[in-house]
Amino acid sequence: MSASVTVLPEKATHQQTRTFNQQLLLRALHDHSPLSRADLARLTGLTRTSVSDLVGGLIVDGLVEEVGRGQSSGVKSPILLSVAPDGRHLIGLDLGEAEFRGAVVNLRGDILRSIHLPLEGRNGDSAVDLVFQLVDALRVDDRSPLLGIGIGAPGVIDTRSGTVRWSVNLDWADLRLGPLVKARYGVPVVVANDSHAAALAELTFYRRPRPTNLIVIKVGRGIGAGIIVNGQLFQGDGYGAGEFGHVNLGNGGSPCRCGREGCLETLTSMRALVDAANVVDPAITDETGLVYAFRSGAPNVRLVVLEGARQLGLAVGWLIGVLNVRHVLLVGSVVKLGDDWLAEVRKYAAASVFSLLARDTQIEFGHIHDDVVVLGASALLMEQQLGLGLAR
Ligand SMILES: [Zn+2]
Repeated sequence: MSASVTVLPEKATHQQTRTFNQQLLLRALHDHSPLSRADLARLTGLTRTSVSDLVGGLIVDGLVEEVGRGQSSGVKSPILLSVAPDGRHLIGLDLGEAEFRGAVVNLRGDILRSIHLPLEGRNGDSAVDLVFQLVDALRVDDRSPLLGIGIGAPGVIDTRSGTVRWSVNLDWADLRLGPLVKARYGVPVVVANDSHAAALAELTFYRRPRPTNLIVIKVGRGIGAGIIVNGQLFQGDGYGAGEFGHVNLGNGGSPCRCGREGCLETLTSMRALVDAANVVDPAITDETGLVYAFRSGAPNVRLVVLEGARQLGLAVGWLIGVLNVRHVLLVGSVVKLGDDWLAEVRKYAAASVFSLLARDTQIEFGHIHDDVVVLGASALLMEQQLGLGLAR
């Protein structure tokens, strides 16, 4: 099946119409499996004859499978169909700031195998080499047809061209990562900002019913948000939507790795919290030590961490005030701080926004943990290549 046709052109060719209709069927099966051919005709508005013909093609292509028989109202019980989870495999990558993670993912979003490679200070070209090493290692022994490679990376990323416009930690500027990976492996490649990918993962794999609008805030060594509006990822005019970690709070403050001072990230990211906790307790040198001290009630560390939560809460309140999105999820290594930290974020978000909006808004931890970016990058690829996943 060829790449996604999301809007059918006015003078569509026969092949475009067929691809469009096959994607309608795949999407229905992805969201409501198992379904009979009659169910599919009813859900999509296609005729029974068209459904049978298109389903036949999808079965031959390995994307759909027969999974048993349903309840019968007449003589013969109908055959039920489902998306074949292993009809295609995908490779999802999370180019994090301490390590690169990669996984082989199937069409149901199951992680079949994953590999982590420590970054160990690599950046520039040697970080690109590490991407190749990771994909090479994941492709060994995988016999299912590969749908493509989805990549989530920190920074401002032009998803249309696969260009990393700017990624501070990796020292990448105007790097055409998507075309480089595509040239090496000969499969479709998508590249997106890691927080944008996280939002897609939460929307695609774990929310039923899917919300129309959603904000997913990823707090780890940095901070960023992925914003879903009307069921679609909102990337902004220059792909920088949600980059609110580098919003300056205007009170001076500590130097930020972006070259400025006093960014939100310098107050509320896990990196900032570890640094601040280290001042009050020099034994704390990493996230594990910070989380342990906070959760075991060390008073000085609790003060530092809860102050960070307040600053983040205020900023979340601004987002809610601007967008009036009722579902806000927090993901990233910050979730390990647990409910006391979350309660403080909620309290200060509610305090910084019109009370009617605050009352209607749920701020929670996300549902996916370590693999949220890997799954989100895979979700974007599934959307682009098969039309699966996102709300319509
Ligand atoms: Zn900054």
